[in-house]
Amino acid sequence: CLQFFVGGNWKCNGTKDSIKKLVGELNSATLENDVDVVVAPPFVYIDQVKNSLVDRIEISSQNSWIGKGGAFTGEISAEQLVDIGCKWVILGHSERRHIIGEDDQFIGKKAAYALSQNLKIIACIGEKLDEREAGKTFDVCFQQLKGFADHVSSWANVVIAYEPVWAIGTGKVATPEQAQEVHAAVRDWLKKNVSAEVASETRIIYGGSVNGSNCMDLAKKEDIDGFLVGGASLKGPEFAIIVNSVT
Ligand code: 13P
Repeated sequence: CLQFFVGGNWKCNGTKDSIKKLVGELNSATLENDVDVVVAPPFVYIDQVKNSLVDRIEISSQNSWIGKGGAFTGEISAEQLVDIGCKWVILGHSERRHIIGEDDQFIGKKAAYALSQNLKIIACIGEKLDEREAGKTFDVCFQQLKGFADHVSSWANVVIAYEPVWAIGTGKVATPEQAQEVHAAVRDWLKKNVSAEVASETRIIYGGSVNGSNCMDLAKKEDIDGFLVGGASLKGPEFAIIVNSVT
């Protein structure tokens, strides 16, 4: 069984005050030992979180620039993230794919650069509702996975997050069976296209309307190795329940 992994993606939420409160809740929460716990604050609050959060919880950014820093107005480089104590970066989130317009190869190049700078990555994939209804869930997920695989040579520092777009922020969580089906298919794709070792050692986590009540049943599934949590990660006690859903 792979080490359980729970990430909190705070997205574009929070103020200095609300984040101070959330960090306080996380600092006083009891978290199971055998779980990797990561939170991803907005860039501007990473330093505040880094300076106040217990070391037991690692910090991720929600994005990074495709290469070395320089004349790229508004961007943040992987080396700057490492410099301020960030250990992880979320790449390929559906909000960046579908709202901002990042494509598979652009995301894949970001992944390679982040890994080269010793950032670990949370590599997100997932289909939209119309794609699921058209029977294209696996095609879409495999295409997005290929975007990562084309650029990633070592998978030791990669966690894959399956986040069906129709489940994100909608309260419409995938059933444990729906999630398990895709997770198993992703593992099989890795086995065929990367290696059996990478398939068996890479964590595949689920995201999309995970909360304190539905996490237990999802966590029981064989190929669900943790969660990427949005809304419910903004509440410390509920996030702790999700972390502790490890079975
Ligand atoms: P919600 O948990 O709010 O549905 O968001 C999931 C997500 O996008 C995490 O990256």
